[in-house]
Amino acid sequence: MPLDAISRIDPEIAHLIADEERRQAEKIRLIPSENYVSSAVLEATGSVLTNKYSEGYPGKRYYEGQQFIDPIETLAIERAKALFSVDHANVQPYSGSPANLAVYLAFCKPGDTIMGMALPAGGHLTHGWNVSITGKFFKSVAYGVRKETGRVDLDEVRALALEHRPKLLWCGGTAIPRTIDFAGFAAIAKEVGAVLVADIAHIAGLVAGGAHPSPAAHADVISTTTHKTLRGPRGGMLMCRAAHAPAIDKAVFPGLQGGPHNHTTAAIAVALKEAAGDGFKAYAHQIVKNARALGDELLARGYDLVSGGTDNHLLLVDLTKQGVPGKKAARALDRAGLVLNYNTVPFDPRKPFDPSGVRLGTPAVTSRGMKEPEMKQIARWLDEGIRAAARDDEGPIETILGEVRELTKGFPAPGLERLAR
Ligand SMILES: *Cc1c(COP(=O)(O)O)cnc(C)c1O
Repeated sequence: MPLDAISRIDPEIAHLIADEERRQAEKIRLIPSENYVSSAVLEATGSVLTNKYSEGYPGKRYYEGQQFIDPIETLAIERAKALFSVDHANVQPYSGSPANLAVYLAFCKPGDTIMGMALPAGGHLTHGWNVSITGKFFKSVAYGVRKETGRVDLDEVRALALEHRPKLLWCGGTAIPRTIDFAGFAAIAKEVGAVLVADIAHIAGLVAGGAHPSPAAHADVISTTTHKTLRGPRGGMLMCRAAHAPAIDKAVFPGLQGGPHNHTTAAIAVALKEAAGDGFKAYAHQIVKNARALGDELLARGYDLVSGGTDNHLLLVDLTKQGVPGKKAARALDRAGLVLNYNTVPFDPRKPFDPSGVRLGTPAVTSRGMKEPEMKQIARWLDEGIRAAARDDEGPIETILGEVRELTKGFPAPGLERLAR
């Protein structure tokens, strides 16, 4: 994006954006919820569609002048329906959290019982965790993972569901390295009369590309962000069976939101077109292969991976054995040019703000075209950086930073290719 206009009006912000561009180009970004959008998605996001109000839905708006907005939103909806094989799609949620809140509004009254995965086990805040509005306005029951396996225990889910009879049952989360058993969850939801919501925010791109099973045949509602593995703009979508479409649409607008963000809708449409292309299947599968390669090399170097490995794009590493807390490791690795986040591990004896683990993933590095050999190199750097952090040695950190710069030069980041020239 040329920053000429911003530079003239607001050099302070222009400089900060330019610095962030350089950061995204030069560093190895391993936060599993982040990615690089294409130049096409960036263009749509920065378009004049941001100037338009469009409360309502295509053909049923409360403002005039929708000649071009209606077909844009309709294209986004149709592409989402085709890509995820669903009856209905709503592309208006401002992001993943508002999308989830709309699901509560569509099916629940305040005080109703709902069930989701506990945050420290890998669930999302919006699945009923106590600090979230969803844990305050609803009676929330949380399931976890089995201590020995680090995986969801469907017997526990079923027992809790039978005991508490939730209105909503959430599956999916933010720190789950394993395949989600949508059919297993659907059987439990059916048995207790719950609405099953599959939150595929992290794995939507893997589902679209055939690298993770689809919830389409099992879930009543599918919620997703558009900006993680799906490689779209920051946004959200809700998809559902035809029978639930009126409730979902009413909950998003006028229930929760006002005007949709049309620039985002257009960018979602573009991202969905990209995700339907042939290259995307290979991309989704490469994300998984890369995560496995990264995990295998870390295992070989003695690291403890929660659940013993990964089926998807994400790894959770317990650093207890290495004797360095997650936050200290994450900070040191950031200085080394390897950006990830500290994270609780299941049954973490430490506090959430200073937990035992780190979370990392491969969507962004795969978007740059990196493959298994680069993953092995990254795992070596992670290991060296973590060991250096454990003994407060800044020397190796500086060395790694220089090597990271060299590697990233050969893998231009989408949307930032001009910085690699
Ligand atoms: C990221 C995420 C969300 C929330 O998305 P935001 O866009 O950050 O509000 C919801 N659910 C899951 C499982 C997520 O990973």
